[in-house]
Amino acid sequence: MQFKTTFATHRLRSFMLCALIALGASAHAQLADVVSITSRVNAVQPKMLAWRRDIHQHPELSGQEQRTAKLVADHLRKLGFSVKTGVGGHGVVAVLRGGKPGKVVALRADMDALPVAEATGLPFASHTRAPYMGKETPVMHACGHDGHTAILMGVAEVLAGMKDQIPGTVKFIFQPAEEGVPDETSGAAWGARAMVAEGVLENPKVDAVFGLHISPNMPMGSLGYRSGPMMAGADTVHITITGEQTHGAAPWTGVDPIVAAAQVITGLQTIVSRQLNISTEPVVLTIASIHGGNRENIVPESVEMLGTLRTFDEDMRAEAKQRITTTAQKIAESSGAKAAVRFGPAAYSVTVNPPDLSDAMLPTLQRASGGKAMSIPKISASEDFSEYQKVAPGLFYILGAPPKGKAHSEAPANHSPLFDFDEDAMPLGALSLSLLALDYLSAR
Ligand SMILES: [Zn+2]
Ligand SMILES: [Zn+2]
Repeated sequence: MQFKTTFATHRLRSFMLCALIALGASAHAQLADVVSITSRVNAVQPKMLAWRRDIHQHPELSGQEQRTAKLVADHLRKLGFSVKTGVGGHGVVAVLRGGKPGKVVALRADMDALPVAEATGLPFASHTRAPYMGKETPVMHACGHDGHTAILMGVAEVLAGMKDQIPGTVKFIFQPAEEGVPDETSGAAWGARAMVAEGVLENPKVDAVFGLHISPNMPMGSLGYRSGPMMAGADTVHITITGEQTHGAAPWTGVDPIVAAAQVITGLQTIVSRQLNISTEPVVLTIASIHGGNRENIVPESVEMLGTLRTFDEDMRAEAKQRITTTAQKIAESSGAKAAVRFGPAAYSVTVNPPDLSDAMLPTLQRASGGKAMSIPKISASEDFSEYQKVAPGLFYILGAPPKGKAHSEAPANHSPLFDFDEDAMPLGALSLSLLALDYLSAR
């Protein structure tokens, strides 16, 4: 009896093991076939290359992306998608309904360029100029958004070609104004926030959203991800110190806002170094602009300062803002001046990859990159992909693409006039986004 029972248990265990293997095999069979997707991606690479160069040569500033949006919308219409334009500015949204029922995944690319004078010397370098803050300014795709747009156009073509096999719906989001709009005083929403406000993640309701960013500072062929907070929240800090204008030869007859401003800047340094618990998350506070006065012998009435606050935790973000206000006000008061502190509405929230989604999709990133997906340190730059993550679980990751002939450690970073990336990384970008969509939709 005892033997039989043991035998029976053994048989049961064996059966369960076989069943698990069979289940595993069938689950695996449901996952997208990397080889076939790779060949589809390779087939669209010449087009991705042409789109990327065309967009690179015709960059458009945040909020001005008419031409890029038209290029994207025309392509998506040709693929037979239902396409919406003018979403949150020049945003384009297309929906691909697969042949089988299932969940809804969104893939996002940003389309805007920057007020930077290109110095790459590339044959398709930008010579474009456009109005920026009331002045004609050189414009350049210095953040790789030309690559993001071309990659997602490629993904749209790849997935359209296998529509019948897709168990669910894929929504393509081509977003304007990721880099922000210069006139933050208007208070109007821009970029991802504007698209979300216009319901980009609704109808059909999105279950998960994926997006990537090109970086020349990660090894070629690698994918960088991070579970939890990955990119910083950003707030613009405006400080006005008001004193009392007087002759520079007799400063005691007024209140000098220049010296008060200097003390405030020094005092602000103690917020990160002495007031916040940076063993929880790092914080960065930079005062990058200071203006006051116009003569050597006139103490001005006021000084204007601008800075940026970067945080990785919403509570620490709130605490840092409160401490900046108190520190500036009290220090200014000590010399009889006044500090008015405000934080601009053009803020970015922390980009946080939910750990369960990151864990679930890591095998997909590994399959796409042949095991070259790596956890990366936090990035103190910001991304408005965070706006989608507030509504639906979202995974943001980095595509490593140093320009040809440059080590990733030497490559000019995003926003540099010398920024460039290796276009041979675009197929990995398209493959990884395609696989993320297909694997997510195939998972039970
Ligand atoms: Zn950027
Ligand atoms: Zn960017």
